[in-house]
Order: sequence, then C-alpha cells, then structure tokens
Amino acid sequence: MASNLPVQTDHPTDAGDSARVIVVLATGGTIAGTAASASDHLGYTSAQLGIEQLLAGVPALAGLPIESEQVAQIDSKDMSHAIWQSLALRVAHHLARAEVRGIVVTHGTDTLEETAYFLHRVLSPAKPVVLTGAMRPATSSQADGPQNLLDAVLVARDPAATGVLAVLAGTVHGARHVRKVHPTRLNAFSSGEAGPLALIDKGRLVAAAGRTALLAAMDHTAPVAVALTHPVAQWPRVEIVHSHAGASGAVVSALCADGMARARCVDGLVVAATGNGTLHRDLEAALLVAQSQGIAVLRSLRCGDGRLIPLAGDRLPGADDLTPVQARIELMLSLMPRDPS
Ligand code: ASP
Repeated sequence: MASNLPVQTDHPTDAGDSARVIVVLATGGTIAGTAASASDHLGYTSAQLGIEQLLAGVPALAGLPIESEQVAQIDSKDMSHAIWQSLALRVAHHLARAEVRGIVVTHGTDTLEETAYFLHRVLSPAKPVVLTGAMRPATSSQADGPQNLLDAVLVARDPAATGVLAVLAGTVHGARHVRKVHPTRLNAFSSGEAGPLALIDKGRLVAAAGRTALLAAMDHTAPVAVALTHPVAQWPRVEIVHSHAGASGAVVSALCADGMARARCVDGLVVAATGNGTLHRDLEAALLVAQSQGIAVLRSLRCGDGRLIPLAGDRLPGADDLTPVQARIELMLSLMPRDPS
C-alpha cells in the first residue's frame, strides 16, 4: 500500500553473528485494514490484507532476511485466549531457531498492550519480540503502518533490543508499561510515568530521556510457560469489575453465581479501584464474600498511572502498578496449574 508519510530507510549494519532472520507474525488489525476511500481513516474494516501484502508495501524491507506467517486475521478487539496460545507457540518456535534474531508481530492496537504483556509473562524472551500496528488502514493516503512495520523490523534487528517491546509512532515501549491512551491520534500509545525505552530518529534507535541504556529496562521475570500447553478451555475465568459512584455488589454476585452465560462461576476477579486501591463499600463487601468463598480477588488502579501502595489492614491484595487488563492476565496465569519442575 502506498503511503505519503516519509519512510526512513537507514538500516543498521548487522552485528555479524549468524542470527539474522526476522520472522513477522501477523494477526490482523488496522495495519491490515482497508477502506473504500484513501481519505477515510476511521470507516474501515480491520484485518483484510495478508502479511505478504503488508511487507510488499514497505519497499525498504526488500532484500532483508525476513520470513512471514499469518497466525490470525482479526480485529484485535476480538482477541481470544486461543489465539494468544497459538501466537505464543509460534513465537516460541521461531525464537528457538538459532538463525532467528527477533520476531515482529503485527497486531490491532486495541488489545496490543494485553498481548504484549501476555507474551512477556509467558515467554520472557531474551531475543526481541516487537509488536506493532497502525492507527490508519493500509489504504489510507496517510497510512502509518508501513513506517511502523519498518521501525519494528529495525528494532528487532538491533543488538540492544531484548524482551517484548511495542514500536509505534517512532517510539519504543516495554511490554510492562505500554498502553493505548487515545482512540484516534497517530501517537496513541504511552508508557505512563515509566516513559518509553527509546525513540527512533532518522532510522536509528536513540535512548529516551532519562535512560542511560537503550532497551535495557525490561524485567526478565520467570515465564509462566504453562499457558503454552494448558488447554484454553480450562484456563481460569477471570473478569474485571469497576468501583465507581453508585457501585453495588450486584455484578460480583452475578459473576459468582453465573450459571447461564457460562458453565462455571468465575475463578478470579480483578477490580479497577479508585484512588490508592479504595473501593465502594458495597462492592468491597461483595468482593470480600467472594474471596471468602475461594474466588481470587486482586485490586488494581483505575487512575492510569502510579502504583497501589499497600496499607496495614488491607483485606484484598493489590496489583502494584499493573493496569486492570494486565492484572487480569497476571491473576489468570497465577491460577493455572504450576509448571512441573
Ligand atoms: N480495532 C482495531 C484493532 O485493534 C484498531 C487498530 O488496530 O488500530 O484491530
């Protein structure tokens, strides 16, 4: 797809080792979306073009050792646990190949941060796994996808890159902090107070303000690899509820006695709490009952930034600085059977 946005083409030279191949795994999203008109940035359909078409739309990638694979073709608002497991398995497969330097995942922006956090926690890879997407469809006269895809490959090839990263709008974020903060603007992602890891300036990586090393900020915690093999139908069911003015315990009660929509009650509940983890008293009472019945409850912050500071007397655990969607993944993984060791 043609783009009028200038595409920087300055590739770094290879580090000289034998791991040169970049594998691009595609899952759909706006980056693969099409609209009837080149001026239409909003009225488009996600996930229409295959990965070969997307790569062909970035001439600067021609000649690089790139392999590609279509893992899914969805609007990422519809992301499922089954696709997460398939994607994680394909990423793990390719990362284990000696000739592979890194992976790029094309993804819709709506749940990109969730997939990034999931891959981070399940794989905790040493090689780079770089997620990217676009805010405008591939047919747009001002498409941002081609530059983002080129930048993602650039980062995946960079010797300093490690772990799960997200590259959008010339900015490199770590999976731990990246989040979508705007529904339409090109620069729609933020790392909140943590800030981004690096910027891409004229085709080269530059450490972001306040960082002395380029991409060294990822925490490599032990991966929860059981999610690669545990049957998706048996993954713990964890839902998110909100504390807000006028909140009651009704949603919690319904989820804990839910025999209609789903076959089983929830296994865990994440609550998006006000302030430093505070809850409407009626909601809190219902959550305490749920916890006493064996349902795992975790408080996260709805503020968007900051960390939940535990206080003496807290009766429900806090999720530190995880967003509600990250906390849901964390709780779900913690409720899976432990890896045999
Ligand atoms: N709804 C789209 C998706 O997440 C939005 C995007 O990709 O920007 O697939």
